[in-house]
Amino acid sequence: MWCLMPKTLRAKALEKIQLLARLQAADDSGFCHCVTCGKVDHFRSMDGGHFIAKGSSSRWALEIENVHPQCKGCNSFSMKHGTAPHSYTLWMVDYYGRDFVDHMIATKKDVHKLYASDYRDMIEDFNQQILAHERRLGLRGSLRAINAEPKSPKRAGNGG
Ligand SMILES: [Zn+2]
Repeated sequence: MWCLMPKTLRAKALEKIQLLARLQAADDSGFCHCVTCGKVDHFRSMDGGHFIAKGSSSRWALEIENVHPQCKGCNSFSMKHGTAPHSYTLWMVDYYGRDFVDHMIATKKDVHKLYASDYRDMIEDFNQQILAHERRLGLRGSLRAINAEPKSPKRAGNGG
């Protein structure tokens, strides 16, 4: 029986992608910089900040290209009331190129319907990537520990 509601799964997936974004950007000592003010801090002290707000785009809320490390000040106050959205746009254009950022903005209202199984696949994928980065940073043990991770049970009715 599947008992997690999609909303809970979405929250879990968002939590994972926000962690992955910080880990992915972290150097081997665990430090990364805020994409909007440049402050350098440990990934645990940073947020995973969305370029296109997660509440306003089902298309991009759970895409890693839309999530990057931000310090807490930039991610909370400055995205709403400060210059962070402007700085974030410039950073995105430098990092991905203008065409991709235009594409993100042009498609941000596209409806991207996700089912429970999609969220579960996504969470599993994020978990694998998180583990790989945690190993890189020396936060996890051997490869054997990863291979020993239990696979999620296969669900019946694997159609469609
Ligand atoms: Zn910042």
